[in-house]
Amino acid sequence: MPVTVKTDEEIALMREAGRILALTHQELEKAIKPGLSTWELDRLAEDVIRSYGCIPSFLDYEGFPNSICISINEEVVHGIPRKDRILCDGDIVSIDAGVIYKGYHSDAARTHGVGKISPEKQKLMDVTKEAFYMGVRMARAGNHLHDISTAIGAYAERLGYGVVRELTGHGIGKKLHEDPVIPNYKVIGKGILLKAGMTLAVEPMLNMGTCRVEWVDDWTVVSADRSPSAHYENTILITDGEPEILSEG
Ligand code: MG
Repeated sequence: MPVTVKTDEEIALMREAGRILALTHQELEKAIKPGLSTWELDRLAEDVIRSYGCIPSFLDYEGFPNSICISINEEVVHGIPRKDRILCDGDIVSIDAGVIYKGYHSDAARTHGVGKISPEKQKLMDVTKEAFYMGVRMARAGNHLHDISTAIGAYAERLGYGVVRELTGHGIGKKLHEDPVIPNYKVIGKGILLKAGMTLAVEPMLNMGTCRVEWVDDWTVVSADRSPSAHYENTILITDGEPEILSEG
């Protein structure tokens, strides 16, 4: 599929989707505490998303059973909320959420500490977030797609983190996952020319150990060595100047 360039009207809808998603993440962050189940967090997310007249993007997406993905510690992404999965002091929890507003998606992920976390886990979260910004700095009209990929990968690998390769960022709009695929590491070729009006979900996933991952059920991806993993994502808009981060409050 060709990479879509959004109209001003579409961009306005995606901006609103992003604003609502940022508010949803803020509500979820406030609720995080030891003893809370990931199912309770999922219920809160759906309530907040629907209170804005939106639909959770992930609900029923290719059969996903819940509204958001919640991945703890060695879980990289796509963790399924469960009543018996309880947040514990010292965990890091990655929350990936999406909303549909008037037919347009926004997609964003945050990783948070639960209670008091180790300095190593804090640094993993900080580097993952900074890797996102390293990529976004390259997300400008006239640059190429893989400038984003190279910037993310080079930064994370220089600091010794495992950059997950099996999962990538993506275009986003009327569909949750549109072209192009956005690797988080240096790949052969420049990739497409970036143009104003393209909307992309940029999402580094970094492991404290190996870059390799495994699936432990139909959905949940874990680091192969079970080292902690963090995820940071926003939906962004390419402009003629600075990129606009649509899902950051
Ligand atoms: Mg995404």
